[in-house]
Amino acid sequence: MTALFLPWSHSRLKTYLACPKQLYHTQVAERGRPERIEFVQTQAMKDGNEIDEALTARISGAPLPPKFAQWEGVAQVVLDAPGIKFTQMKLALDQAFTPCGYTDWDKAWVRVIYDIAVIDGDRGFLGDWKNGMIWPDEAQLRLFAAVGFHQFPEVETFHTSYIWLKHGSTSDNTYHRTELPDLWQTFLPDVERMQVSYQADHWPATPSKQACKWCAVNRVGACSVAAVRFGG
Ligand code: SF4
Repeated sequence: MTALFLPWSHSRLKTYLACPKQLYHTQVAERGRPERIEFVQTQAMKDGNEIDEALTARISGAPLPPKFAQWEGVAQVVLDAPGIKFTQMKLALDQAFTPCGYTDWDKAWVRVIYDIAVIDGDRGFLGDWKNGMIWPDEAQLRLFAAVGFHQFPEVETFHTSYIWLKHGSTSDNTYHRTELPDLWQTFLPDVERMQVSYQADHWPATPSKQACKWCAVNRVGACSVAAVRFGG
């Protein structure tokens, strides 16, 4: 039986907007069925996760492994900042924008994971470590803040950043609680379209060079309308 709604995250919505068919095969189709195509992590993703884990441990007090020693300065900036620190913080809201458990499978409607969060009174910082090339996607930071305003009612302003580790730079955005309705409105029409697709079980292919090049459906040759050959 189809659940009442399809839970979403920044990456899930982004995949839907790039190509509904890709989302269906990789995240909606039931595991174990032939139409389900599992995502395969690239080496770059595995490397990024390793750095994420090392920085998470560092913020909790463990030393960085020698091969990641160059990130000590970045970790120190976070450690020296005033406020309560959280790492790999998993948050979820239900459809009424009320915080719920990340693994409340029947309730959680939208989910985020903060690599690093620092809450200091009425100000907060939400960050995402990035190990690859600079490719800012403001929507994720916007969703970080929108969910954060519900989780931390005392916070009036969120500073958010992508932290480009290999480049020694950040991409920053600041959001204020007064913007909260507008922040949600940037997502809700697309989320609603995704829910309509889900209820109708309608997942059209929308080929494009950018989406198809790294698409798992294309990787296994299960898409007859791919715009380009799989690039992995
Ligand atoms: S190969 Fe392209 S059109 Fe086909 S499912 Fe993937 S992204 Fe969509």
